[in-house]
Amino acid sequence: MLDAKYNVNDQGHLTIGGMDAIQLANQFKTPLVVYDVAQIRNQIHHFQKVFQDNDVKYAISYASKAFACLGMYQVVNQEHCHIDIVSGGEMYAALKAGFPASKMSFHGNNKSKAELEMAIDHHVGLIMIDNFHEIDLLNQVLKNKDAKVDVMLRLTPGVSAHTHEYDQTGQRDSKFGFDLKSGQADQALQKVMASGRMNLRGIHAHIGSQIFEVKGFEMAAQKLVEVAKNWRDKYDYVPDIINVGGGFGIKYNENDDPIRPEDFVEAIIKTMKDSVKDDGLPMPEIWIEPGRSIIGPAGYNLYTIGSTKRVPGIKTYVAVDGGMGDNIRPALYQAKYEAVLANDPNAKPVEDVRIAGKYCESGDILIQNQPMPKYHLGDVLVMFATGAYGYAMASNYNLNARPAVVFVENGKAKVVIRRESYEDMIHLDNNYIN
Ligand SMILES: *Cc1c(COP(=O)(O)O)cnc(C)c1O
Repeated sequence: MLDAKYNVNDQGHLTIGGMDAIQLANQFKTPLVVYDVAQIRNQIHHFQKVFQDNDVKYAISYASKAFACLGMYQVVNQEHCHIDIVSGGEMYAALKAGFPASKMSFHGNNKSKAELEMAIDHHVGLIMIDNFHEIDLLNQVLKNKDAKVDVMLRLTPGVSAHTHEYDQTGQRDSKFGFDLKSGQADQALQKVMASGRMNLRGIHAHIGSQIFEVKGFEMAAQKLVEVAKNWRDKYDYVPDIINVGGGFGIKYNENDDPIRPEDFVEAIIKTMKDSVKDDGLPMPEIWIEPGRSIIGPAGYNLYTIGSTKRVPGIKTYVAVDGGMGDNIRPALYQAKYEAVLANDPNAKPVEDVRIAGKYCESGDILIQNQPMPKYHLGDVLVMFATGAYGYAMASNYNLNARPAVVFVENGKAKVVIRRESYEDMIHLDNNYIN
């Protein structure tokens, strides 16, 4: 189990951010996504503390693709974060939330002309340049608007990290960023410097996601400092900012045992300090782009148990009222989650079951093997650590409506995304035959 002991109230019900999970399910219906806002804030504070304790200039740029909505943009703004955006849509939502454009970093390997124009019109803080096409396109947009903009170059340092491993060559074939070995990164630097309209603030690398090993980050940090040294020697260019991306792994189930997200950052800072000292470079600002580690553990998916199918001696399926439409990760990545019954999270399991969704796909299984206590029709099942890339990837498959999203904090619950209605789902449709 995720924790030896779950937070329960006097009635023995699971609490989320101090609120009764059963009551939340009753009040807002299921399937429901609940975020414990204090947990979000706490993780941001942990990151901030590491930087402050080490006396390093920094920015925490929340990778908003992990979960984006007006409320979330407002919370991270309150906590003094920057944000990564990867589309005009995310830019639009963040602006609507009142998020300052100056603290947005615009990522993506195929930003459209319209998106770049939108970014320039709204004075987005940084364009994270990904490829040569983008340099030309951005130059053109800037020229047309007689504008300038701050940029960073996204590099592929040749370090790729997977959950439990990393390697030094695997990333060169990535669709993102400029390759170092072939000299493309140098070429990009020269092009940007020649532009006269782009102010190069620094360099960036993002080596992967749900990473457990600190080694990959250390190698990437070293590599980026090495680039900085080369560019100083060759081109007299010194970056103000080195951005090491996100990807800090979180605990989804009992087999995951990651270090704390802030411990990755501690190691990165140390490597960076040592490396710049060796090379006689000024200490740059260190930027990180955590998505999952900020929002993942703070999210809880609540479902109601419906039908049960027992295949004697083989398997028991327990079906819930959501599934791959609100959390595609088990089907897409074989992600392993854990769940408890909200009315008694510490109850002893009596059998292993498979938690199935309600979508018309055999692959719509939320949990392959869930130790289950005695349960009943209508019980509320709570899945943990669903906050990242869950609702963000939600779909209307089977024309099931997407769930509501509720933020809880200080004993209050607030709907930040209302449940979709049937009407919402045909909102974009036109009749073909009248
Ligand atoms: C997705 C992404 C992140 C965030 O990754 P997490 O695993 O959610 O921390 C950060 N930076 C870039 C460039 C990304 O594409």
